[in-house]
Parts: sequence; C-alpha cells; structure tokens
Amino acid sequence: MSPEELRQRLEYYQDLGIKQIYKRAKTVLPEPAKIAALPEMKIIPADIQLPSLVPADDSLERISAEIGDCTRCRLCKGRNKIVFGVGNPGAKLVFVGEGPGADEDEQGIPFVGRAGQLLTQMIEGTSSKEGIPLKRGDVYICNVVKCRPPENRTPEADEMEICGQFLFRQLSAIKPKAICALGSTAAKALLGGKDGVTKLRGKWHKWNDIPLMVTYHPSYLLRPYNQNAKRESWDDLKKVLHFVYD
Ligand code: URA
Repeated sequence: MSPEELRQRLEYYQDLGIKQIYKRAKTVLPEPAKIAALPEMKIIPADIQLPSLVPADDSLERISAEIGDCTRCRLCKGRNKIVFGVGNPGAKLVFVGEGPGADEDEQGIPFVGRAGQLLTQMIEGTSSKEGIPLKRGDVYICNVVKCRPPENRTPEADEMEICGQFLFRQLSAIKPKAICALGSTAAKALLGGKDGVTKLRGKWHKWNDIPLMVTYHPSYLLRPYNQNAKRESWDDLKKVLHFVYD
C-alpha cells in the first residue's frame, strides 16, 4: 500500500470515529534451541513509520476541497454554509473560535456577527494602541467546527473530533508564529484537558510546538457584567501581539 493510500485509509478510519490504531509488534520467533527461553522473549515493536495524516503538500485550498459538501457529522443537517476560515493564508497569528453562529452560517465567513465585530475591534484597536500596524485581514480566523450547531449549542465531542482534523490541517498549513484560542471549546480542542479559560488564560501553552494563548471568547465579553474579563482579555491580546509582531 502506498503512503497516500495508507493516509486515505487512516482518514477513513478517523471519519468513522476510530481514535487509536496500534502498530503491530514484530514477533521475534525463537530459534529452536531457545524455545525453553520463551518466557524471556522480547516483543520488539515493528519499525513501521506511519505517514502523517497531513499530506506533505497541504494547503488551505486542498483542505477546503476535501471538506467539500461535508456530511461527516450531524451538523451538516442544519447548516446553510460551511464556514471554513478567512484571512491571510500566510498569517503569523491565527484566532480559533468555537463554531459559526447565525450570521456566520448565512455569510460563510467566521466572526462577522456581534462577537465578530468585537473581535475585529479588539484586533485592530489593541494593535493600533500598541503601535502595531495590523488589520483583521492580516491574521487568519477560523473555528473548531465549520458548521453552525443548532441553537448555537456547544459542539459535541464527536463533532469536534471529526471537524478538528481540518482545523489541525489548517494550522499546520498556515504555520503561524502563535495561535490565540478564543474560549474553552477552542482551548479544549487544541490543548485537550478539562481546564477552563479562567485557569488557562494569560499563559503560553503549545499546540504542536506553536505557542498558544487562551483567552475569553468575545461572546462572553459582550455580556454586560464581565468588565474584569474584558480587561484580562485585552492584556492577553497585548501579550500575543507583541510576541508575534515586535
Ligand atoms: N462565535 C464563534 O466561535 N465563531 C464564529 O465564527 C462566530 C461566533
């Protein structure tokens, strides 16, 4: 089987929800004279190099084409448009949200509703105050899931798992200097674990060797009683912008 065929087979398993595969161990057959030593026999793992699920010449166009008119999970039933991502494919900074809302579903563009306007304001306002010439179009913005969950509910684990492979490929293709995870769904998808934003925010983490900052989701910041979170979010963003653009 060629590496490409194997990659496609693995992708097929992933779509089926199979989360782990095991390398078959190479059985070391004992020489006849050593059969008595069987209990001490070592099982040596076979030296198979599994090809990465990310194709070597991956690109955002290729990922988008592979997503196609996706029906891999139940979210396809309620969506109008797949919201793939927007911005500079060579961006030094990528923002990852949770999933499209009603406005995004209608337009096929992430973060265009109220939360999106706040995110744009945060990116452009903070960078301008910090003397960094940066516009929304200079960064890349995408979500963990590409289809709107019904009633804007939080995406379920299997939905995140299935769609997450495309997010990982997007991040690997862009190779930004830093990632900013907006809210706990993005943090969970990229870092695993159970910790919430309050615990994770403000500190640097890593996704596949890329520095990752967690901060509050802009929708949370829109709620009127979250003044403190707003301040903290602006601090987090300042850290990210200076790290990436200084
Ligand atoms: N919330 C998100 O997480 N993503 C969007 O694209 C819009 C709102």
